[in-house]
Amino acid sequence: MALNENRDECPFCDRIGDGDFIAESDVAVAFADKFPVSRGHALVVPRHHAASLFEISQAEIEDVWGLVSHVRSILQGDLAPDGFNIGLNDGEAAGQTVGHAHVHVIPRYKGDVPDPRGGVRWVFPDKAAYWLNK
Ligand code: 5GP
Ligand code: ZN
Repeated sequence: MALNENRDECPFCDRIGDGDFIAESDVAVAFADKFPVSRGHALVVPRHHAASLFEISQAEIEDVWGLVSHVRSILQGDLAPDGFNIGLNDGEAAGQTVGHAHVHVIPRYKGDVPDPRGGVRWVFPDKAAYWLNK
């Protein structure tokens, strides 16, 4: 599946057009992931269509991370998770499937997987558990 490179075929540009956000700023919006991996999984998405977060200006990047922080606080208050995975897949080779930049805010709950150690390191399952090789 190729990344959608233009806003005409972009599910996030469509979603932004619908309004109704968890939170928003001048630069970005936050809405629920349609296929959440955990309860409360949210996406923070620049309003402007760009494939990579690093194609927008430094000031806009800072605004996006400010909104990430705000969404994290909202989810903390609403759902009281025990932790978060926060991050992005930057490029198709890194796993990005929607070609409109976005940051995942994924609440985590004790016991949601048998052993959460390693977190994002599990993009490489055979290397994630480094503590077994120390
Ligand atoms: P990526 O793989 O690009 O890092 O993440 C894309 C995310 O977008 C996935 O978590 C997926 O569940 C979510 N997603 C895909 N299509 C839609 C959609 O139409 N609406 C919303 N809200 N989320 C979507
Ligand atoms: Zn878009």
